[in-house]
Amino acid sequence: MTYAPYFTEKHDKFREEVRYFIENEVKPFAKEWEEQGYFPRSILKRMGELGYLGLSYPEEVGGLGGDYFMSVVMAEEKARAGAGGFAMGISVQTDMATPPIMEFGTEDQIERFLKPSIRGEKLACLGITEPNHGSDVASIETRAVRDGDEWVINGSKMYITNGPRADFITLVTRTSDDPGYRGISLFLVDLDLPGVTVSKTLDKVGMRSSDTAELIFEDVRVPHENLLGEEGKGFYHIMWELQGERIISAAGAVGGAQHSLEVAYRYLNENLSSLELTEQYHAMKHLLAETAIEIEAVRQLVYATAYRFGRNEAPALEISMAKLAALQLSHQVADTTLQIYGENGFDNAYEIERGWRDSRLGRIGAGTDEIMKGIISKGLGIN
Ligand SMILES: Cc1cc2nc3c(=O)[nH]c(=O)nc-3n(C[C@H](O)[C@H](O)[C@H](O)COP(=O)(O)OP(=O)(O)OC[C@H]3O[C@@H](n4cnc5c(N)ncnc54)[C@H](O)[C@@H]3O)c2cc1C
Repeated sequence: MTYAPYFTEKHDKFREEVRYFIENEVKPFAKEWEEQGYFPRSILKRMGELGYLGLSYPEEVGGLGGDYFMSVVMAEEKARAGAGGFAMGISVQTDMATPPIMEFGTEDQIERFLKPSIRGEKLACLGITEPNHGSDVASIETRAVRDGDEWVINGSKMYITNGPRADFITLVTRTSDDPGYRGISLFLVDLDLPGVTVSKTLDKVGMRSSDTAELIFEDVRVPHENLLGEEGKGFYHIMWELQGERIISAAGAVGGAQHSLEVAYRYLNENLSSLELTEQYHAMKHLLAETAIEIEAVRQLVYATAYRFGRNEAPALEISMAKLAALQLSHQVADTTLQIYGENGFDNAYEIERGWRDSRLGRIGAGTDEIMKGIISKGLGIN
C-alpha cells in the first residue's frame, strides 16, 4: 500500500527492489562482515552499479535524479540488513561526506570526488570529530595553513567511519586564528597522500561491520583546488551537512524500529503461542501494540521533516526532534525485542543482540541526545 502523501507507486516499487537486494545480497553476509570488521568494497561497487549511491543526485553528475524520499526508502530498507555498520558506512558515503560536494563543490571537485563516489569506485569519509572535540564542533583544532597554491594540514580526526579504507575525506579544519566557528574551512583530502596515517582502528561495542579510524595528518599538502566551499564558511557548511545527517539517521532508525517490531511479533506468534491464555502473553501483545503506535507517531514526524528537507529547508528544531525521537525509539524497540526473546535474546546465535548493540550508537552519533535537547530548548525559546 502506498504511504501517501510522501510516497508514490514509484517509491513502493523501488522499496520492493531494495528489499530484495538487501535480503539477497547483504543479509546473507552480515555475520561475515561483522566478524571481519568491515563491509567489502565489492558491495559498494555493486550499489554504485545499481544507482543506489546517487539516488537523489541529479543525472548530470551520475545520480538517479530521484526525490529525497528515494533516499528515505533506502535508509529504511538498509536497516533490515541486520548489519547497522554496513547501513551507517553507506550513509556516510551517500548522505554525509558527499552532499557538501554537490552543494558547495566546483565542477572539478564533482568530477574528481562526487562522480566516482556515486559509481562506487571511491569510498568517502567525513572528518569532524577530533580526539579532544566531539559535540563542540567550533573548537576543532586540525589546522590548514596556506602555502602558495597549496594548503598544509596538521592535526587528527577521531571515530572516522570508513576511515581505515576510505579514498578521501571531507575534512573540517581551522584556517585562521579567528576563534570559534569563524575560522573554519572544508577540504577534500585524498587519503593516500604523504603524511596521512591511520593511527588506530577502533574495537567497537556495535556497528562492527563498519570500520572506524583515528586519522593523523602531518604536513599533508593539498592543492588550493581542494578547498570545498568558501574559505572561513566551513562551520556553516558543516552545520548544513549535519542537518542532512540527522534526518537520514532518523529515517534509518524508523526503519530499524519497524524491523525490530516485526521480528518481535513474529517471535511472539511463532514461539510463545503456548502462553496464549496467560496474562504475560497479553502484556507482551499490548506492549507491542503500544510500541507500534510510538513508531507510527515518530515516523510521521520524520516523514514530515524529511519532506521539508527535500524541499531545501533545514528546520533545525524539527530535525533535532526527529533525530532524538527516532534514534531513542530504535534502541528502545530493540531492547523490547530482546526482552520478548528472553534468554534467547541474550544468545548471540539469535542475532537479536546485534540490533540492540548497533542501535545504541544512535544516541551518540550525529549529535548526542543532550546536544539535540539543547537545540530543541533553544528553538523553543527556553534559555
Ligand atoms: C561508531 C562511531 C562512528 C562515528 N563516525 C564519525 C564520523 O564518521 N565522522 C565524525 O566526524 N565523527 C564520527 N563519530 C563521532 C560522533 O559524531 C561523536 O561521538 C559525537 O559527535 C559526540 O562527540 P563525543 O563522542 O566527543 O562526545 P562529547 O562531546 O565528548 O560528549 C560527552 C558527553 O557529554 C555530553 N555533552 C557534551 N557537550 C554537551 C553540552 N553542551 N550540553 C550537554 N551535554 C553535553 C554529550 O552529550 C555526551 O553525553 C562517530 C562516533 C562513533 C562512536
